[in-house]
Amino acid sequence: MASTNSLFTNLACVECGRIHAKEETHTICENPDCKSILSAQYDFGANRLTKEELRSRPASLWRYREFLPVLDTDNIISLGEGFTPILPLLNLQETAGKRVLLKDESNNPTGSFKARGLSLAVSKAKELGIKEFVIPTAGNAGGALSAYAARAGLKAHVFMPRLTPQTFKDETRLFGAEVIEIDGNISDCGKAAGALAVAEGWFDVSTLKEPYRLEGKKTMGYEIAEQLEWQVPDVLLYPTGGGTGIVGIWKAFGELEKLGWTGSKRPRMVAVQSASCDGICSAFHNNEERSTFKDSGFTIANGLRVPKPYADKVILQILRESNGNAVSVADNDILTSLYEISSREGLLPAPEGAALWHAFKELSRQGWIREGETVLLLNTGCGYKYLDNIR
Ligand SMILES: *Cc1c(COP(=O)(O)O)cnc(C)c1O
Ligand SMILES: [Zn+2]
Repeated sequence: MASTNSLFTNLACVECGRIHAKEETHTICENPDCKSILSAQYDFGANRLTKEELRSRPASLWRYREFLPVLDTDNIISLGEGFTPILPLLNLQETAGKRVLLKDESNNPTGSFKARGLSLAVSKAKELGIKEFVIPTAGNAGGALSAYAARAGLKAHVFMPRLTPQTFKDETRLFGAEVIEIDGNISDCGKAAGALAVAEGWFDVSTLKEPYRLEGKKTMGYEIAEQLEWQVPDVLLYPTGGGTGIVGIWKAFGELEKLGWTGSKRPRMVAVQSASCDGICSAFHNNEERSTFKDSGFTIANGLRVPKPYADKVILQILRESNGNAVSVADNDILTSLYEISSREGLLPAPEGAALWHAFKELSRQGWIREGETVLLLNTGCGYKYLDNIR
């Protein structure tokens, strides 16, 4: 056993603050009147790692292991996730008058940023003695869970909407997991998965109902700051499904300030949704604290078909606190944007990521994104997996 030198102390509820011990397995807040999401806490004051030491570490998210919850290096299940490149959109930004950067998460194992969360979740589950997983997914999370479970020698059961591109089902089966297809959306998958989790004693790795996927996702925020020489962009656009990405990146910026590695500047955070499921956009523009269930059916951006994110309240708080915004994008605009990026930049983003380019143009047209600002788009996945949708 070798220590990761993790500074992890415990899990705290983001809503009521109740502390949950780090030695036990937890899901959501155990206060029955609360049930909000749990967030890993660290003793940042005890940090010894310097920015200079960090520079020589391997190009993987585990370079930040002091600020991750896994305690023993033997439990780290890694396939080389993280430290993805930030590429300027050289040709498209010319007409925009702004610096437009794209962080390309398609370079992750299994072709999406879900690898980050599931590398963390599976590693921590191994540390806690968990043997069998269940997950509801729009596609990418199921593939990622199955890959990391295979690597760890553990079993995974994956609930996926029947209308998911075939590649996602194929990869999940190839990684040795059981795929259960459901006629419905991810909420329907979540209900089915939750019931089996209880009946079979499997561990449910649903978005934000499992506390450690968030820790994997937050490493995107650490990387953005490190790769931009400890600066943050003016505006950050994120395709929002369950919201782990937005919540995680925001958490990272707070932690980096506590470490004294960045200042107090934060990007204006923008949630981008598919018009099929844009409950966060409606709630944001109507000044509501929570979103309401919204599902208008299939969207080519499968990962954005989340009718009501569990963390809706937290997502909305972040958008407001950062003076951010929320933009809904229709499928035909996603397709047009995808083709602009692929034909002009040589990158094939996931439809979820492509939606950001449309949102960027829209916010620029409105003058909300201003001349001279630096804007970062997070392309969360790889378009190759979605060819059934975008052909
Ligand atoms: C899951 C997924 C999303 C949504 O991510 P959240 O962090 O849950 O909001 C966006 N894009 C892709 C490609 C995804 O797989
Ligand atoms: Zn609570």
